[in-house]
Amino acid sequence: MPPDLGQWLNTPGAQYVEPWSPFDNVDYVGVCWVSAWLVHTDEGSVLIDTLYGPFRQTLIDNIASTGTDLADIRYVLMTHGHFDHVGGAATLEPLLPNATFVMTQGGWDEALESAAASQGTPRAWEMIEPDMVVADGDEITLGENSFTVVETPGHTWGTASYVYDVRDGDDTYRAITIGGLGLNAIEGPTQVEAYIESVDRVRSLVEMRNMGIDVHLTTHGFSNNLDEDRQLLAARAPGEPNVLVDPEGLLAQIEYLRGRAVERLEQERGE
Ligand SMILES: [Zn+2]
Repeated sequence: MPPDLGQWLNTPGAQYVEPWSPFDNVDYVGVCWVSAWLVHTDEGSVLIDTLYGPFRQTLIDNIASTGTDLADIRYVLMTHGHFDHVGGAATLEPLLPNATFVMTQGGWDEALESAAASQGTPRAWEMIEPDMVVADGDEITLGENSFTVVETPGHTWGTASYVYDVRDGDDTYRAITIGGLGLNAIEGPTQVEAYIESVDRVRSLVEMRNMGIDVHLTTHGFSNNLDEDRQLLAARAPGEPNVLVDPEGLLAQIEYLRGRAVERLEQERGE
């Protein structure tokens, strides 16, 4: 890890990304290294993940710059209990009068535990009390869209992914935001096994085409060249395909994540 990585991760200037629209009903309102997605419906908007610390105001400014009224945000779907995804919830809660904050029970538990453990450290953060608890297979419907919860334990035990519709012109695709990608919070072989099972489950959802998932709107842009895709989309000519509609790329990423996890499992088992 470069010595200045911690500083880079926490410097708003270095992390700023102007909000952009990968799909007609979606705005990217995150920063460079961690995502926040704003999905619009005809009955309000859904925010996926909340950023943290130095980026809480960035998120609020980014949402405003998309022309979205904070009062129109109806749900905040959170992927898991790590600070970079839920650290902004305590700031957002009083600003979003009509929003329900959503996570798995495991996600709420790990977030509260992690926030409590951070007290007295230089990067202390607060977590809101649990609001709505979701479980695998639950669907949250807002307007014409529906958000399906797919529990994908592994990155943390409480990690969830969300599957929802994205629109590009006349075409509608199913997108997934995979809740956790890294193996940085692994506490033993059982957790890696769960991670592999989750990766396989997501792969079957994509491969079997039973959910028709063609798009990955990631929680961390560096995991699948999101910034490159942003630039390609900005230069997209009329009639050209949307580079983010890429089921083969998603399957390749899943294969990569799985391979890494299998290696890690061998290490964890001491093989
Ligand atoms: Zn995480």
